[in-house]
Amino acid sequence: QEAPRLRAAPAKVLPEVGKVVAVASGKGGVGKSTTSVNLALGLRALGLRVGILDADIYGPSLPTLLGLVGRPQVGPDRRLIPMEAFGLKVMSIGLLVDDETAMIWRGPMVMSAITQMLADVDWGRLDVLLIDMPPGTGDAQLAIAQGTTLAGAVIVSTPQDLALIDARRGIAMFRKVDVPVLGLVENMAHFICTDCGARHDIFGSGGAEAEAARLGVPYLGAVPLTMELREASDRGRPVTALSPDGVLGQVYTGLARKLS
Ligand code: ADP
Repeated sequence: QEAPRLRAAPAKVLPEVGKVVAVASGKGGVGKSTTSVNLALGLRALGLRVGILDADIYGPSLPTLLGLVGRPQVGPDRRLIPMEAFGLKVMSIGLLVDDETAMIWRGPMVMSAITQMLADVDWGRLDVLLIDMPPGTGDAQLAIAQGTTLAGAVIVSTPQDLALIDARRGIAMFRKVDVPVLGLVENMAHFICTDCGARHDIFGSGGAEAEAARLGVPYLGAVPLTMELREASDRGRPVTALSPDGVLGQVYTGLARKLS
């Protein structure tokens, strides 16, 4: 029943952007934004020109993760000029309005904010634009999937069964709108003890990889649960920018290589 409506809006091509890739999750808090930022930096480390659009209207975290303050400028053609951080071009609803303002927006406001961020930002020439999607599989997610020509979607999940069930919904949504699912990133896959170096598979091991196989999507790899990653994110100094050759930097550059 939904399908005809879904096809009604023609997808828009961003002429100066090589590939637009959505980073999505079935639910919040699984590390989608952390993955988006570090994946973007991994792609940057491979020498690509990368932009990142924070479309997580109700919880925009890119400004914090990238230590950005201030407001984007408006160009002569009245388009927004993305801000820059660690070599990335960045646009986020969090740079435009207060968190509290966006929180009370109703559906139509959210839609128009998303449409504006897709259409009215002067990205310049980019090889890749990553879209940090709102979590879930509702109208806002569909609007983005249909409002632009997506080269594909990366799904982020933790190994927990519940998160994987939601990830499955995300995959189904992209398939429904004919967006290829590029793969599943397993975040917080295991914990390496800072004191003893032992590996703990808190949510079991192998579940996410098996689920990816079952769903017929590539398993892109595992990111461990680490204090370093959380602290770096909170400080607005992402690990992949600071130490691309460190253990985590290599994990993300490895993921980026699979997508480039
Ligand atoms: P989402 O975008 O899915 O809501 P975030 O990327 O904002 O999730 O991450 C939620 C919280 O978990 C943040 O505090 C973040 O720093 C932390 N986090 C995410 N991934 C990891 C990880 N692999 N190790 C440690 N902390 C993580």
